Amino acid sequence: MPELLYEGKAKKVWTTSDPEQVEMEFKDDATAFNGQKRGTILDKGVVNAKLTAVLFAVLEREGIRTHLVRQLDDRRLLVDRLEMLALEIVARNIVAGSLAQRTGLAEGTVLKAPIVEIYYKNDALGDPLLNDEHVAVLELASPERLADLKERARAINRILSAFWAEMGILLVDFKLEFGLRRGELVLGDEITPDTCRLWDAKTRARLDKDRFRRDLGQVEEAYQEVLRRVMGHAAL
Ligand code: UDP
Repeated sequence: MPELLYEGKAKKVWTTSDPEQVEMEFKDDATAFNGQKRGTILDKGVVNAKLTAVLFAVLEREGIRTHLVRQLDDRRLLVDRLEMLALEIVARNIVAGSLAQRTGLAEGTVLKAPIVEIYYKNDALGDPLLNDEHVAVLELASPERLADLKERARAINRILSAFWAEMGILLVDFKLEFGLRRGELVLGDEITPDTCRLWDAKTRARLDKDRFRRDLGQVEEAYQEVLRRVMGHAAL
């Protein structure tokens, strides 16, 4: 019988008969502002499971190792069990969210070159921004591993920016989580409108979780629109 290993804000993780693999189940629950705002986005779990399966397959094709094994059903992915790093790696192409707040740069400003940031995955501390020296002091990654993480985030950003551009979508920013599979660094977690900012390239309409965070309405429609564009794409 599968046992619940972990329940997060948007996913449940279940054991399988293979100790080296787990099932990720995507929920419709949505939270924002470190859990202070809660709600449900109908069928978000279905959209996010499918998008993660497609995007991780695209990345694998481009030589990026991920934990994806295969999609099991509407809401569940079979993935390799990873020992997760307590880090969130954010890549940014356009100013939004906390970068706008921290720097005073206007939201929507296109960055001259992408930025990669490192955050401490720690709910009690509110996931603070870290610099390289903080990462070293906290022993969250060696300098070599940190450099590797940043380089992978940049490579993933190049691949996914091009992918979304073909769908008429700007990849504004996104968050990645990595873990270890028998000592090997591998991309884990998810890539979805919960963890990316995706703007329509023509209208700059937000097609991501900011619709929920900022009460912009048409939340379900935005998730469905992203899935529709990806599934309708001939190159898949
Ligand atoms: N993000 C995420 N989980 C987090 C924090 C951020 O998936 O715990 C994503 C977020 O969706 C956005 C990017 O990382 O695509 C950058 O988020 P930002 O630092 O601007 O924070 P926010 O404005 O979301 O608080």
